[in-house]
Amino acid sequence: MDYLAGLNPSQRAAAEQTEGPVMIVAGAGSGKTRVITYRVAHLVHRGVDPFHILVLTFTNKAAKEMRQRIMSVVGDEAKNIWMGTFHSVFAKILRVEAEHIGYPRNFTIYDTDDSKSLIRSILKEMQLDDKLYNASFVYNRISSAKNNLISAQEYNSNEQIQADDFSNGRGQLGQIYLTYTQRCYKAGAMDFDDLLFKTNVLFRECPDVLHKYQHKFKYLMVDEYQDTNFSQYLIVRKLAAINENICVVGDDAQSIYAFRGANIQNILNFEKDYPDLKVFKLEQNYRSTQNIVNAANSIIANNKNQLKKHVFSENETGDKIKVYRAFSDNEEGKIVAEAITQERALTGGHYRGFAILYRTNAQSRAMEEALRKLNVPYKIYGGTSFYQRKEIKDLIAYFRLTFNPNDEEAIKRVINYPRRGIGDTTVDRILVAADQRQLTLWEVISNAAAYLDGRSAGAVGAFATMVQGFQAIAKNHSAFDAAMHIAQHSGILKDLYADKSVEGLSRYENIQELLNGIKEFSEREDIEEKGLDVFMQDVALLTNDDNDKDPNADTVSLMTIHSSKGLEFPHVFIVGLEENLFPSQLSLNSRSELEEERRLFYVAVTRAEKKLTLSYATSRYRWGTLNNCEPSRFLDELNPAYLELDFKPKMVPDNAASFADERSSWGERDVFTKPKPKVLPKTTAMLPKAHTPTPGFSPSDTSNLQVGMEVEHERFGFGKVINVEGSKNDIKATIFFKELGQKQLLLKFAKLRIV
Ligand code: ATP
Ligand code: MG
Repeated sequence: MDYLAGLNPSQRAAAEQTEGPVMIVAGAGSGKTRVITYRVAHLVHRGVDPFHILVLTFTNKAAKEMRQRIMSVVGDEAKNIWMGTFHSVFAKILRVEAEHIGYPRNFTIYDTDDSKSLIRSILKEMQLDDKLYNASFVYNRISSAKNNLISAQEYNSNEQIQADDFSNGRGQLGQIYLTYTQRCYKAGAMDFDDLLFKTNVLFRECPDVLHKYQHKFKYLMVDEYQDTNFSQYLIVRKLAAINENICVVGDDAQSIYAFRGANIQNILNFEKDYPDLKVFKLEQNYRSTQNIVNAANSIIANNKNQLKKHVFSENETGDKIKVYRAFSDNEEGKIVAEAITQERALTGGHYRGFAILYRTNAQSRAMEEALRKLNVPYKIYGGTSFYQRKEIKDLIAYFRLTFNPNDEEAIKRVINYPRRGIGDTTVDRILVAADQRQLTLWEVISNAAAYLDGRSAGAVGAFATMVQGFQAIAKNHSAFDAAMHIAQHSGILKDLYADKSVEGLSRYENIQELLNGIKEFSEREDIEEKGLDVFMQDVALLTNDDNDKDPNADTVSLMTIHSSKGLEFPHVFIVGLEENLFPSQLSLNSRSELEEERRLFYVAVTRAEKKLTLSYATSRYRWGTLNNCEPSRFLDELNPAYLELDFKPKMVPDNAASFADERSSWGERDVFTKPKPKVLPKTTAMLPKAHTPTPGFSPSDTSNLQVGMEVEHERFGFGKVINVEGSKNDIKATIFFKELGQKQLLLKFAKLRIV
């Protein structure tokens, strides 16, 4: 059997080039992931030991699918290939090696919630303003430092960083970072970024450990390389340093994680790092119809910053891309749900061929409601994970404590849940006692009588005894028996059982579900160690998709565009194509941010195989107020030759008056019924002209803009300032415009005249 027959000549050449550094830069749907899959199969087939192959993917789901494909070619051996996300692979390595860098093997992984909660405690202790030092902001700052391999010490001794923080009025960031690091260390915890950061530390400080893995992983492959950050880049470079059998695949046009530190420079550096690099280009898109590929090309052509690529499809021309306009987000949901039902009825197809993609998670609500009304089964991917639900996190916190009693966030979570008379003051005292005496939290808790007074000492002591009991049980029981014991004796099961509300019932069921999962784990035959500690190891890294009981269920998929990367569906709906939503309002500050939004749109469009449908609403509730919306500039950028407008008969909205202006909106004009000149008019020319500025309009200095002032906006017309917030370069004004209603504007960019 020629197992490489499924590749075209350029793909095949790339798959067969197994030795030396290889880079495949190619457009969406051109078979990059397929090449990696076949390449691995080829390696194993040629006799390379699967244990020597490391494949880094973007999601666990992608790794799972890839493994299955490889298994179908090379059989069960594929099980031994190291394959997974950066985080899961290096968490696994750190579990073995952590002691080299002073961490216990059973370290806890703090998820984002844990990290932010710890940051909030530190802010409280340092008595800092939690608006100025917003926990998410601080978290992102620390995350970005770590992803650039800047340690807390380096952060504090870097004059440039210090000067910047001080000039932004946030001079305490360095100290917060330092305390945060110390507290994680004391708690025996690593956050998500640490999994990469500490791997770098490990490889830097323990050359023999690095050496071991350099020899172990003789062949490395990285999918979606364009979205790796500096920390990931360096890990890969170090691991590949000896054998240099490294193959990365990516598409600069799909780089969508710059906000998380991903650096497109990594693709460009690659050529410098490996002078004898072999570069392969793939140009044929096998995924989508010609119309979709051409439309996608017309979008990305608007980005200045890109490597020029030719992408074409030899698939059928296909239907044109439909564009729907709705009055509101609810109507948009209805249109999409109806379209899915009709399409499915027509084609006799399945629901699983449909995906609805959106820019922000909040948009799923309207879609879900509409789908439910028509009884369309759906599943949300990448949404709040099962493991993020409160009751699940509570029980897992007990498990965490069982294996790592120093875990500060777990202690805070359950020391008084279910209630056992240990208040916040007592918890604070425990933290202070540990801090002052240089003890771990567990040393204080397990000797409560020595550090706390009478009544609280009693309650804390009883808690410690309970945790010790769990530790003893976990040592010599199966994962399931230990978990069941803990669920019962912690009081969680009883507490949830007592709550007879609908929510209470569903929480109880979720706990049952978790316990069922652990039971399944206990009964698995493909792993040797089946203790609760093993089950627990990667729980923090699991996503909703990993809890997917039935991945082949016939459901419509709902997800953000970010989580749709690498996936494909016969029919894709991209909803919410409105200015300030997509592109996001936050991206309008600079060309590079806008270009990232455009790449995101490119990713979304290129997920579609056969049919693509775009939609927007002319009004939408955001943050509790109804806003009028303008169609996204991205709609203007799409070459109209590939579009087909399909506007439903006009519905009369409840509040018809506020839509009086509707006729002039984007979709209503027949711009797309006649062939259009190739050069499209500028975006603004196609948008409704809400306002003609007063002759001689020139923007005022708005640095002293106050609530109550009357203003004129170049395009939105006259309005009144109802709120001003933010500071320095980031002042936002909420203005109620006579014609358009409420809008929030970033003053830096808003062309406003104070009247
Ligand atoms: P993305 O950039 O979106 O991650 P990609 O470049 O990784 O895309 P793949 O997902 O590997 O592309 O391939 C896209 C689709 O085209 C898949 O369904 C794949 O099986 C199919 N495909 C790729 N190459 C071929 C080929 N030579 N023959 C048939 N089908 C192919
Ligand atoms: Mg891919």
